[in-house]
Amino acid sequence: MSTFLPPSLTSLAGVAGQVVTPGDPAYDRTRAVFYGGIDRHPSAIVRVATADDVRRVIAIARKEGLELAVRSGGHSVAGHSTTEGGLVIDLRDLSKIEVDIAARTAWIDTGATALQVTEALSHHGLVIGFGDAGSVGVGGITLGGGIGFLVRRFGMTIDAVLAAELVTADGRILRVDAQHEPDLFWAIRGGGGNFGVVTRFQFRLHPLPHFTGGILILPATPETIAGFAAASLSAPEELSAIGNVMPAPPAPFIPTDVQGRLVILAFIAFAGDDEAATRALAPFRALATPIADMVKPGPYKAMYPPEDPNYRPTAVAKTMFVNGIDLPAARTIHEHLSTGDAPMRVAQLRALGGAMARVPADATAFAHRTKPMLVNVAAFYQGDAEREVRRAWVQELSHALQPRDDGAYVGFLTDDGPERIRSAYPATTWDRLSRIKATYDPTNLFRLNQNISPAVAR
Ligand SMILES: Cc1cc2nc3c(=O)[nH]c(=O)nc-3n(C[C@H](O)[C@H](O)[C@H](O)COP(=O)(O)OP(=O)(O)OC[C@H]3O[C@@H](n4cnc5c(N)ncnc54)[C@H](O)[C@@H]3O)c2cc1C
Repeated sequence: MSTFLPPSLTSLAGVAGQVVTPGDPAYDRTRAVFYGGIDRHPSAIVRVATADDVRRVIAIARKEGLELAVRSGGHSVAGHSTTEGGLVIDLRDLSKIEVDIAARTAWIDTGATALQVTEALSHHGLVIGFGDAGSVGVGGITLGGGIGFLVRRFGMTIDAVLAAELVTADGRILRVDAQHEPDLFWAIRGGGGNFGVVTRFQFRLHPLPHFTGGILILPATPETIAGFAAASLSAPEELSAIGNVMPAPPAPFIPTDVQGRLVILAFIAFAGDDEAATRALAPFRALATPIADMVKPGPYKAMYPPEDPNYRPTAVAKTMFVNGIDLPAARTIHEHLSTGDAPMRVAQLRALGGAMARVPADATAFAHRTKPMLVNVAAFYQGDAEREVRRAWVQELSHALQPRDDGAYVGFLTDDGPERIRSAYPATTWDRLSRIKATYDPTNLFRLNQNISPAVAR
């Protein structure tokens, strides 16, 4: 417990968790978030230990008129999980994972990371599909939707959610599921952190007795890029692929003469038996002689290699849906990436479909169920001046690939602005979300997020 509480925050002394304030030796370490360049100074960071702690912090934020940020894994691309001068509800110490093996369900605290959950479930041969980074928090990725290595096989992360425990803006602790608060249950599956603080989710678990996965690196040419996109889209749904067209990084498994040259660095996941995996992988391996082929049978948790906890990237990015990447689009990607000069620049291709697309569009607040492919374009930068140059580069390639605003996945939005948040939700979805927001958070207390404004009564 911090000894530096200002008078307006003395009631924080009653929380069971740890309160970290400026002057505390742990303050700088605790206020850091995943992305670099986000340097905010909260009045207090409350590492909550219980749902009741969450309720107390909410009450103080309301009483004192303080901005409130909510943090699970701290990976918000827009820096939403911290605040200048406000309070942070930091859920990272709420990370319990309670597995019911017989029922194939688990209650998982939202401060757990994707890696922690994946490791805990691997002992039982069970999985939940999260994203492509083990350090992402269960809270943020699940509330946004969750598109990852198992999306075509088992759907999005939200498709495994059975229930949640949520603390509302007026301090109620609710059980939320199909029977209790059904509107809220719909909204928190894709509507982000707009409706309250989720302290834990109950998930359905999928058995995964056989898995093949890993990194496949191919030389990037217009033909291999278009071929990779086509192979990803026509693969059996057991296979989900994330192809990063990018300069080859200086990794030990990449020959030095290839490092810096344009490659497709692909993460391939096949959720099925070994022979079927070999068949499904053949079209990818036939695109060109692989530079590295580390795709092999093994445990699913190996998809999350160790991460450097001090890595603080600074990047600009744009996300979009496309119908596919044909040869002209592949030429555009290849040319743009070849002439770009950011040391790290990428066009990431993710084929969707399969189980994700079988869920009706109105079943959850994520409605873009039938989009065939998601593309993220990103460039890393050093310093503010470089940021605008990189942003222009990202915009140019994004516009060439998708000149229209054809919707967005909210989990990959950055500081794109209110219009792009609107386009993450079709009009009927937005209207329903906005009405639910007005019911559960009429004053927009939870506004540090991809914000859905409360509907105004006519
Ligand atoms: C390196 C990297 C890789 C990624 N890969 C993928 C991917 O493959 N697939 C994918 O779908 N997404 C991916 N994402 C996006 C990621 O899912 C979102 O950024 C997500 O919001 C991060 O969750 P978090 O808990 O770590 O972040 P936080 O910064 O802690 O939270 C983000 C926001 O979510 C809300 N929030 C978080 N927890 C709670 C809670 N318990 N209750 C209420 N609101 C809450 C808050 O509004 C908060 O500002 C990636 C992000 C990064 C940085």
